[in-house]
Amino acid sequence: MSPPSDQPTVQLPSEVRMPILGFGTWQITGRRAYEAVREALDVGYRHIDTATMYGNEDEVGRAVRDSGVPREDIFITTKLPPERAGRERETIQASLAALDTGYVDLWLIHWPPSADPASIATWRELLAVRDEGLARTVGVSNYDTIQLDALIEATEEAPAVNQVRWGPALHDPQQLAENRDRGVVLEGYSPLKTTDLRDPVLVGIAKAHGVTPGQVVLRWHVDHGIVVIPKSATPARIRENFDIFGFSLSESERRQLDAMGR
Ligand code: NAP
Repeated sequence: MSPPSDQPTVQLPSEVRMPILGFGTWQITGRRAYEAVREALDVGYRHIDTATMYGNEDEVGRAVRDSGVPREDIFITTKLPPERAGRERETIQASLAALDTGYVDLWLIHWPPSADPASIATWRELLAVRDEGLARTVGVSNYDTIQLDALIEATEEAPAVNQVRWGPALHDPQQLAENRDRGVVLEGYSPLKTTDLRDPVLVGIAKAHGVTPGQVVLRWHVDHGIVVIPKSATPARIRENFDIFGFSLSESERRQLDAMGR
């Protein structure tokens, strides 16, 4: 397993580096969340993805503190529920208090607020919070290119990251290119849920490398430069999902996986 310092990262604005492999925490709360995040940090993950909506920021904060890993070595993302538009300040303050930290590394708008003008006003608030140092970088989630452009046009600031549902079966080179052209790092969520892990092509590639189909899916993201945040509450899988840096996919294998959705 790679020591944390060897983990590949992607570059965000202001010299912030984001580990390309992170740990998702949706649908785990309470003791399960605490134990899963402790396990993840023990295994070597240094990037944790949470959200106000997940109801587990307290447990994430406690796991980080108890892990003994210095706070500055961990990249923490949390997200603003769009119905909190207009209450951005109080929401980030509550996240920071729950996470027991003075800043997050990335704060995202969880999905676009239903009214377009609210999206722009909220984006301005995120930028202000970043400028005050409460979030090192800010971004969005579930935004299409038109919605990204509306934010950029209004503020001349592109989101650092756009977190979207992604996986080989959803691979959309055009959407990836449109994000990159705007300087937006694409982060994929639900990588395993959106993949048929029994797909014969995937299984064949996994066998050829002596790894599991899940590991191939995660490695595929990394080879594309797409940030990926698998979730697991199972210690063996938490470990397995982190152990993806000892092999890489050939060009031809990557292309076969790119075609899974077609
Ligand atoms: P996921 O990570 O693709 O899949 C999680 C599921 O896969 C769990 O049921 C897990 O089971 C199972 N699993 C984990 N490792 C496996 C492996 N190696 N082989 C087979 N099955 C495996 O789905 P997700 O939780 O939806 O997405 C990941 C993270 O993205 C979330 O946790 C969250 O942080 C983020 N997310 C963001 C949004 C958004 O709107 N921004 C939406 C959805 C998710 P066990 O836990 O039982 O091991």
